[in-house]
Amino acid sequence: MRRLGLLLALACVVLGTTPAVQPARAGNSPSIVYFPATGHHLAEPFLSFWRGHGGLRIFGYPISEAHEREGMLVQYFERARMEAPLCCSGLSDCPVQLTRTAALLNAGRTESAFFPLPNTVSPDTPLRRFFPETGHSLAYGFLRFWLRNGGLPIFGYPISEEFSEIDSATGQSITVQYFERARFEWRPDKLGTLWEVQLTRLGVELAVRDGVDTAPVPRQADVPDYDPALFPRSFRLPVLMYHDIGEPASRYRIPLWRLEQQLDWLLAHGYVTVSLEQAFEALLADGPLPERAVVITFDDGPRSQLAAARTLAARNMTATFFIVPGRSALGPAELRELRSMGHEIGSHSMTHRMMTRLSDGEIRWEASASRQKLEEWLGEPIWFFAYPGGDWNGRVAAIVSTTGYAGAMAAWGGTQWRRDKRWAEPRIEIDGRISLDRFAWFVQRF
Ligand SMILES: [Zn+2]
Repeated sequence: MRRLGLLLALACVVLGTTPAVQPARAGNSPSIVYFPATGHHLAEPFLSFWRGHGGLRIFGYPISEAHEREGMLVQYFERARMEAPLCCSGLSDCPVQLTRTAALLNAGRTESAFFPLPNTVSPDTPLRRFFPETGHSLAYGFLRFWLRNGGLPIFGYPISEEFSEIDSATGQSITVQYFERARFEWRPDKLGTLWEVQLTRLGVELAVRDGVDTAPVPRQADVPDYDPALFPRSFRLPVLMYHDIGEPASRYRIPLWRLEQQLDWLLAHGYVTVSLEQAFEALLADGPLPERAVVITFDDGPRSQLAAARTLAARNMTATFFIVPGRSALGPAELRELRSMGHEIGSHSMTHRMMTRLSDGEIRWEASASRQKLEEWLGEPIWFFAYPGGDWNGRVAAIVSTTGYAGAMAAWGGTQWRRDKRWAEPRIEIDGRISLDRFAWFVQRF
């Protein structure tokens, strides 16, 4: 704590001797916003950090105003506390850190799950990692969530193993794991969604412990409500598009060994698979996106894709499968199996006809009836649509946007995601015959 204060004080000195450069704000984006839900403001430097590292889902609402505490500028959120040097107040380009909330609140716990383990466990795999820094491992769904939503800078190292604890809210036993700055709660009923791990409201616990005033305050003059649409957002995100799996290789068929080679290349180069749900959350709601994110998609639902689904799961990776319900070989049972591996299901229409050639009513039916059929099979919402044959135009997109989806995918168009392309975000066709070098070029450079 004391050492951190010193580091922050040094940051102030450095900032004081060099003119702080304000990053250019596009248009008229505000530097302060208000959250009516909790009655608090969010201003720089915390606003940029909050928006850039996960927003509402990761940090929650602000529950205090920014204020001075122990020589630092701090602000409490539902799931975190942010800290910055005092001189950073109002500056967007300033070092912000997250308090080690869980480590502070759980110091001195003596259950066996908190005992460091000797570094003699088996070597790291995509399914399990060991952190000698704290003597704890991180595996399966918790590892996936940690990698996808911020990793070390946001959550810190694990400070316990995963274990069962009674959830104080429900009295039920749940699987949890503690990190320096977070407590993960496993939600098996939400598997394969953004909410398969829930973050405990540690900021609320810390605010109570610190006696912080969390009462709502009146809005300052001319401060707008927070709305992600107030801020520009676009990013590069490769979305890979595959079809059939098998031999012989062709434009629309990739041998399993070649797919595995590509997946291993992605892992070796630090890529993390994310769902389309996460990609669209990042685009539309300031959600988190790992620096090397990739989305893997499969169209048409042939039976051969089950092998792809399993080889992905063996690497702790997930993909999105676009299904033509009733025509794809993958039916309700297979789709439930995909969901149990954490994969995501999207719609690829009812009949796979080229949609630009259909009437308005037919387009509406293709999108809407396929969504309803998949939802009936799976008992959960279907959020994304992929145009058959990548065939779309403004009329098709406008109609699909009214049929209950959150976004739609084209088949080509590069790697740049923008809000104005929400109903035709780009994908990269991965021809089943390409070399690994060509694949790497698509992922890194295209
Ligand atoms: Zn197709």
